[in-house]
Amino acid sequence: MAVNEILLAEPRGFCAGVDRAIEIVERAIAKFGAPIYVRHEIVHNTYVVETLKAKGAVFIEELSEVPPGATLVFSAHGVSKAVEKEAHDRGFSVFDATCPLVTKVHVEVAKLAKAGYEFIMIGHKGHPEVEGTMGQLSSGIHLVEDVEDVHRVQPAQTEKLAVVTQTTLSVDDAAEIAAAVRARFPAVREPKQQDICYATQNRQDAVKLMSPQVDLVIVVGSPTSSNSNRLRELAERLGTPAYMVDSAAELRSEWFTGKTRVGLTAGASAPEVLVREVIERIKALGAVAVRTMPGIEETIKFPLPKGLKLPDAAATPPHIS
Ligand code: SF4
Repeated sequence: MAVNEILLAEPRGFCAGVDRAIEIVERAIAKFGAPIYVRHEIVHNTYVVETLKAKGAVFIEELSEVPPGATLVFSAHGVSKAVEKEAHDRGFSVFDATCPLVTKVHVEVAKLAKAGYEFIMIGHKGHPEVEGTMGQLSSGIHLVEDVEDVHRVQPAQTEKLAVVTQTTLSVDDAAEIAAAVRARFPAVREPKQQDICYATQNRQDAVKLMSPQVDLVIVVGSPTSSNSNRLRELAERLGTPAYMVDSAAELRSEWFTGKTRVGLTAGASAPEVLVREVIERIKALGAVAVRTMPGIEETIKFPLPKGLKLPDAAATPPHIS
């Protein structure tokens, strides 16, 4: 038995926040010339980072690596208040590519902190988005990664307690942890709308629909990409073997032995060009049909920050997609 059909999850790949962040770097290079410094990987995807490096982006982790007078872009994951202040104090010209949906969480944290709230943040330790959100405050924000952490956490007070989450979590895991928070702190304030973003939700819903219909799921995404990892885990939880690949070159022919229908999706930071390459490789294993699953059409687009207008349309650089 060989692969005969590929099912493509819909939606998959780039979200509006990733698309905007990449365009900010591309436009900054076109407008101000290379090098443009970017704090952290602009989005967690190897292909995107390498392509932008070739165009003149320099990725750094510490602002001390950036020369005076340089132009600096903050990644889509957002930064702490301390990083924002350091960039200001060092006099860099800054373009903020933080996803507006992450900024929304920062604004909420600042607003409620002013009103005396303490926070429980559901997220993954060490992820730059979590560092950025927790770094909106100097104290009073406690990270929980799982239900056990919820039992251990010790806020200084419980009358004014709010919960916030990383935007790219497993929807189901986050709901379970949030339920544990509610059980322990019944008065906890929860966001009106989930912090988990529309793109994470939609890509997970698409995998839920696709997984039972296929023998194997391939997720295109880099190992550092939170939402890509969640897609692979979700497919496996639903009982379908799943692998995540950074590029077509990582596909292994033995994964496809005895599989007739393969499901394919991509994390929010993975470009469609990589999906197309994976399709070609799977076709070489015998797949003759490619079918796109029904799914939500995403029309969200976020505006660019001011100061990146190019003199004419012809100057607009080719966009990674
Ligand atoms: S995954 Fe969600 S939060 Fe992250 S950049 Fe995309 S839209 Fe924004």
